[in-house]
Amino acid sequence: MNCTICPRRCFIPAGKTGFCGVRRNGNGNIGKSDNSPKIDDNIGIYSITYGKNTGLVVDPVEKKPLYHFYPSSSTLSLGSIGCNLDCKFCQNFSISRLSDDSFLRESSPKDVVDTARTKGCRSIAFTYNEPIIWLEYVIDIAKEAHKAGLFTIAVTNGYISQEWREKFFDYIDAANVDLKSFSNDFYREYCSASIEPVKETLLYLAKKSKDKTRGINRNDNSSRKTWFEVTTLLIPELNDSDREIEELSDWFFSNLGAEIPLHFSAFRPADRMLSIPPTPAKTLFRARDIALARGLKFTYTGNIDDQAGQSTFCPQCKQSIISRDRFNVTEYLIDEDQCCKYCGQTIAGEFES
Ligand code: SF4
Repeated sequence: MNCTICPRRCFIPAGKTGFCGVRRNGNGNIGKSDNSPKIDDNIGIYSITYGKNTGLVVDPVEKKPLYHFYPSSSTLSLGSIGCNLDCKFCQNFSISRLSDDSFLRESSPKDVVDTARTKGCRSIAFTYNEPIIWLEYVIDIAKEAHKAGLFTIAVTNGYISQEWREKFFDYIDAANVDLKSFSNDFYREYCSASIEPVKETLLYLAKKSKDKTRGINRNDNSSRKTWFEVTTLLIPELNDSDREIEELSDWFFSNLGAEIPLHFSAFRPADRMLSIPPTPAKTLFRARDIALARGLKFTYTGNIDDQAGQSTFCPQCKQSIISRDRFNVTEYLIDEDQCCKYCGQTIAGEFES
């Protein structure tokens, strides 16, 4: 059988799993967890990690990173094992390469939502490993979360097939999408993938993602698209040239718009790239300057100490309107209409007064 969830479209013999290590051909038998949903055209292939996670952790939403989605709110984070990419620099390689699920904890969708509410979280984040490969569990949790007035967040590589893209993001209120590089050669050599499906996901989020009324706690009860931000991990000499950052910024500006936040994050030696040094702070400063000069309004640095690069400035009056110290919001100057308190400029994103 062929799995259709992501562009790999793995052919999976009976009893085996695909490239990601967690989607199995049950040979017509859904497997021990018959609570694993039988998703229409994918019947017979199921996720062996349905209902299981690496633990439930409360994080600030800034850690995802999402800087324009209910700043300083808490999100209940959960992840699982496996991945549909094979990045040689994976910063979470201790779980992304596993196919042994024996250490995972079991939590029903309702357990996850109850925990989020008990801990005072505003949202639930599917993160740490790639949520696309366990999307049945994501969707079931999202349904419960929305009933309870909680938002959902996906931290994702965006490597999903066209037929599943809409079904997945229909349940997601905010996403941070990794754009690993702006070069297809990089995707091929370092991630065993291609860039095109990721660009299609970004274009879908920018232009086609459906309006939906999601959280029931919204003040205005309005419907919104999935909010999204983008992160690029800069690796010394592999994807950090001026030219590549200029090309990325120009494509971003023309196709996603000037108001979508772009985060440049520092690489730390990991996985099969232990001999590459950590990204110097000056590389991130340079990248941020280039993106701002190319017209992007909200560009950030991550994984380094840089208060200016992690604060939000009003694109109109240039005042600092959200100051951050690492993941803590230390100043917040956005009014109840989502506008800058200094000059009244509307700030892109979703905010509370
Ligand atoms: S989700 Fe997993 S099994 Fe399905 S196509 Fe992608 S890598 Fe293959």
